[in-house]
Amino acid sequence: MEKILVSACLLGENCKYNGKNNYIEKIEIIKKHFDIIPICPESLGGLSIPRDPSEINKNGLVYSRKGKDVTKNFVLGKNRVINIAKYFKIKKAILKERSPSCGVNSVYDGTFSGVTIKGSGITATSLKELGLTLYTEETLDSLINEITTNN
Ligand code: SF4
Repeated sequence: MEKILVSACLLGENCKYNGKNNYIEKIEIIKKHFDIIPICPESLGGLSIPRDPSEINKNGLVYSRKGKDVTKNFVLGKNRVINIAKYFKIKKAILKERSPSCGVNSVYDGTFSGVTIKGSGITATSLKELGLTLYTEETLDSLINEITTNN
C-alpha cells in the first residue's frame, strides 16, 4: 500500500498544545487505502505536551504565546519529518490546517488574536517544496473521491 504522512492529532493522538487531539472520522477511510505514518513536527522538535501555543510572526520566526523563541524546535521537527518523507519516498500528506507546523493554506497571523492569514506552517512549506501533494481535514474529500473512484 502507498504510504502517507498524517498529522498525528488528526488520528486522535493527544499531541496538541493543550494535550488534546483533532480526530476526524474520515481518517478511517484513509486508513483502509494507505499505510499511515503519523507525524507531529512539534513533538519531534522536542516540545512538550501540553505546551504553550505558538504562532509564526511576520519575520518568519516562531514564538510561543509567552514570548519564547521556539523556531529551532519547529525547524528540528520539520527536518525530521522531511527525512521521513525522503526515506519512504512519500508523495502525499494530510495535515492539520492553521497549525504553525502543519497548516497548508492558512496559519494564525502571529498576534495570538485568533486572526488567520494565507500561508503555511514550517513543516508544510518544506513538504510542499519537496513535491508532496498536501491535503488537510478541510480538503480531504478530494483524496477520498480519488481513492474511492479508482478502487
Ligand atoms: Fe497536530 Fe501538527 Fe500540531 Fe502536532 S504539530 S499537534 S501534528 S497540528
